[in-house]
Amino acid sequence: MIRFEAVSQTHKCGTQALKNISLTIPKGQVCVLLGPSGAGKSSLLRCVNGLNQPTSGKLFVGDIEITARSLKTIRPTIGMIHQAFNLTTRATVAANVIAGALPAVPTLPALLNLFPREYRAKVCDLLDRVGLSEAHLTRRVSELSGGQQQRVGIARAFMLDPAIILADEPVASLDPAVSADILALLVREARARGATVLCSLHQLDLAVKFADRIVALKAGELVFDGPPADLTADAAARIYQTPVTPALAPEFA
Ligand code: ADP
Repeated sequence: MIRFEAVSQTHKCGTQALKNISLTIPKGQVCVLLGPSGAGKSSLLRCVNGLNQPTSGKLFVGDIEITARSLKTIRPTIGMIHQAFNLTTRATVAANVIAGALPAVPTLPALLNLFPREYRAKVCDLLDRVGLSEAHLTRRVSELSGGQQQRVGIARAFMLDPAIILADEPVASLDPAVSADILALLVREARARGATVLCSLHQLDLAVKFADRIVALKAGELVFDGPPADLTADAAARIYQTPVTPALAPEFA
């Protein structure tokens, strides 16, 4: 469960990215975030794993409020999947997947690459689940296709069986057919563990296909919250409409 209570966030430069967001995402829900570029989707996701701090309001993961102190406890319960995969491309697939266990491994053994045996076994299991064979274990990530790289990214995110998966435009770099496969995989793995998913997307068709719930932001405000069936063409047009500013169209001033 993720709960935002009147969360606002202003970046250091003064840009207000989030305005008074109140939102509860129950355990196990697949919630897709929509909204035009700059709407605040990444800022919202980054507040959940503590990379951004709300300027006001409160944010809870389960029953725990996210604070500087609680982050150490919360971080291992959150898996993150990135648009540009964020893998170490010169390292092997195995090294990248096991890196997902870093939040739970003390620094020194991690630096020495001494991961417990159970984690090594888990890498093999996860690779199998994401559709990569054992032969991929020792291959460099740079040799894989984009779709395969995101499979590695998903395996890494599930290393610690997180209660929450945050995915920031996880298929923005992939072609449409591969995108659907990757989202199906992400949702299947999340459902298998009862994990809560908060995932930003820009493809409406994929949002409707995979989400239990769609939340849309526009200029930092929550402007839509409902099941995919409620995302009509009119609702989508309202979300994505380019604001008409007086500078662009003086007749609207
Ligand atoms: P989205 O993910 O929907 O594209 P973002 O959360 O990245 O939106 O951005 C929301 C607003 O915050 C935008 O106006 C953006 O320019 C601004 N912003 C995002 N990150 C930063 C940052 N690190 N510093 C300053 N402004 C930022």
